[in-house]
Amino acid sequence: MQLLARLRAGLAALQWRDFALAQAPCSFCGPSIFVRFNRDETGVRCLRCAASAVHVAMGWALRAQRLDLAATDACEFSARGPLVAYLHRHARSLKVSEYFADLPSGAMRDGVRCEDMQRLSYADASFDLVTHTEVLEHVPDDALALAELHRVLRPGGRLLFTVPLFDSDSTVERAYLRDGVIEHRLAPSYHRDPLRSGEGILAFRDYGSDILTRLQTAGFVAPSLYIAPQKIPWITTPRIVVIAQK
Ligand SMILES: [Zn+2]
Repeated sequence: MQLLARLRAGLAALQWRDFALAQAPCSFCGPSIFVRFNRDETGVRCLRCAASAVHVAMGWALRAQRLDLAATDACEFSARGPLVAYLHRHARSLKVSEYFADLPSGAMRDGVRCEDMQRLSYADASFDLVTHTEVLEHVPDDALALAELHRVLRPGGRLLFTVPLFDSDSTVERAYLRDGVIEHRLAPSYHRDPLRSGEGILAFRDYGSDILTRLQTAGFVAPSLYIAPQKIPWITTPRIVVIAQK
């Protein structure tokens, strides 16, 4: 059923003149075939697990950490997808969640736990590994979120995540949330996944390389940028994964 929904979403986003298939290794599945539905980078997927370029980069970054996943309690800020499936298979335990604006952290909707990264319901030092992809730029107060991610990690625990990173030293704040009202400093920028339905989500900022300083401010040590090996044809921009440790 999920495969059918995925296929339907892919077909809806399909531009026939851009359609292409190519063999490439997937960090989750091993040897695989990638399909290009359209020229949008998110329109490139692993045919076996539906991983996007971002997910594949996360997979390589995770492997590079050489963690003993069988002894790892993990936390991922999405409830499905190839990264969730991979962690479900290999980690000792996995907590997954989505963000629902109208629910408090820890509440459930249709079997899915809600977590607001700025106010997590998890206890201190719950996890050895925390991951998220393309989430932090949509969180109104990222300092609060990073402090929370630090709190729920155990000493020595790793944080691995992706955000769109811009070729700039300084992060550009695009919008603020004050007293529940969004104030735009720049034209609103919405990110959307063409293979998922629903409207786009507002990006509160465009991160520059000072994201590493933000991690240090939140208490993380040795923050670094991992450049994932680029094995998927058609993806030309290097995919970067941000890594830090508690
Ligand atoms: Zn795959």
